[in-house]
Amino acid sequence: MENKLAELETRLAEIKDLESAAYVLHWDQNVYMPPGGAAARGRQIATLTRLGHEKMVAPDVGRLLDALQPYAESLPYDSDEAGLIRVARRLYEEKSRVPPQFTAEFYDHTAATLEVWKEARPVDDFAKVRPYLEKTLDLSRQYAGYFDYEHIADPLIGRPTQDPGMTVSIIRPLFAELRDQLVPLVQAITAKPPADDACLHQHFAEEEQWDFGIEVIKRVGYDLERGRQDKAPHPFTIEFSIGDVRITTRVDEHYLGSALFGTLHEAGHAMYEQGSRADFEGTPLAGGTSMGVHESQSRLWENLVGRSRGFWRHFYPKLQAVFPDQLANVTLDTFYRAINKVERSLLRVEADEVTYNLHVMLRFDFECQLLEGSLAVRDLPEAWRARMSADLGIAPPNDRDGVMQDIHWYTDYIGGMFQCYTLGNIMSAQFFDAALQAHPEIEGEMENGEFGTLHRWLIDNIYQHGHKFTAPELLEGVVGGPMRIAPYIHYLREKYGELYEL
Ligand code: ZN
Repeated sequence: MENKLAELETRLAEIKDLESAAYVLHWDQNVYMPPGGAAARGRQIATLTRLGHEKMVAPDVGRLLDALQPYAESLPYDSDEAGLIRVARRLYEEKSRVPPQFTAEFYDHTAATLEVWKEARPVDDFAKVRPYLEKTLDLSRQYAGYFDYEHIADPLIGRPTQDPGMTVSIIRPLFAELRDQLVPLVQAITAKPPADDACLHQHFAEEEQWDFGIEVIKRVGYDLERGRQDKAPHPFTIEFSIGDVRITTRVDEHYLGSALFGTLHEAGHAMYEQGSRADFEGTPLAGGTSMGVHESQSRLWENLVGRSRGFWRHFYPKLQAVFPDQLANVTLDTFYRAINKVERSLLRVEADEVTYNLHVMLRFDFECQLLEGSLAVRDLPEAWRARMSADLGIAPPNDRDGVMQDIHWYTDYIGGMFQCYTLGNIMSAQFFDAALQAHPEIEGEMENGEFGTLHRWLIDNIYQHGHKFTAPELLEGVVGGPMRIAPYIHYLREKYGELYEL
């Protein structure tokens, strides 16, 4: 059995190497590559991806996994070997059930859709992308059909790259409960005078913003010996190995919040990847549990830590020293209110902590309805306006800032694309609560710019396990139960109740 396991590990390491090599090419494409390289780079990435896919679905791998199954079942569920076989099987199943012709057709279709979306969005022409989106919906349904499911969105949500272990029957009631709590909270907050965030909208030189961001992420625990930061128009985190997890950021010289919180967000993702157990290197156990748990980590650092008063008690005097002309006369309280301003807005990516989830839940519900057939693509723009009015009290005057605003549906499936953001928010509060219960000193440490206890707790309880458990399994182990919205709602009510005198 040990020989077979070693053979599986060797094969998985080769697959991971091909994948990581493709990631390097992808990173370079987004950071340094001149435009002339685009066509060849697309081909190069496709070749490596295809080789990895072929290796994964090779009949030998299926035979190895079958032979190892009884062995895996004889081991404790949380053993590394059982975890490796389990995760490898999930990857194998997903890749081998979907015919290669389908995958090729889907990639061709999304490549074409993306180009049409890029042209249609600026001119607000939904009719132009509509037939493409209708085909995406057909293909998404077809994808689901390769699997057994309770709800048609489940196979899309449960993809190994999305949120394995999560289903519509888990998510729907949670989101419904959250929406019931959030809609009145947003109404109560927006009935109050808006926070003044003019202090964030001044001129802040790029270099100083960059250096300050680096100081912050070093301090919270991002290891620059095993990472680096570069500029990219759409910030992302990418992992080549546990020893090389890179982030990107963008800097807006006229808005301080963009680089600052974007950097902290990506560092949160990267610290998670850096925290995988070193001996998971080269195996599919390295990395994060799921998109949702990943978001819980980026948001924990960005929001629960990075938008807290305690955090800024330490960092604000330092920020004032970097930008004395802009901030010397702005108090900590004014700054704190500015970075936590709540407002009704049209765009998900610009939404604050309180309204953000309403944007996400709308998309999740529409994905489910589209897949079920209870909503047609042609009715989507109208449905979008109606739901925005009901939830946020604001409706987009056009489709550019409505149904066409996010890239997701124009470059991937319809289904499983959005839930991770809100699942992440919900879990971030559950995890943070558990950390504070174990170590009440964390809050005091944050005010002194010390993050070691929190970082250590996250490594021990979450990061080190990498991909070994699903999100429900991880939660069970860390907080002793399933996903619950109460800690998140409590956090929002406390913080914004104080800020807006509710
Ligand atoms: Zn993120």
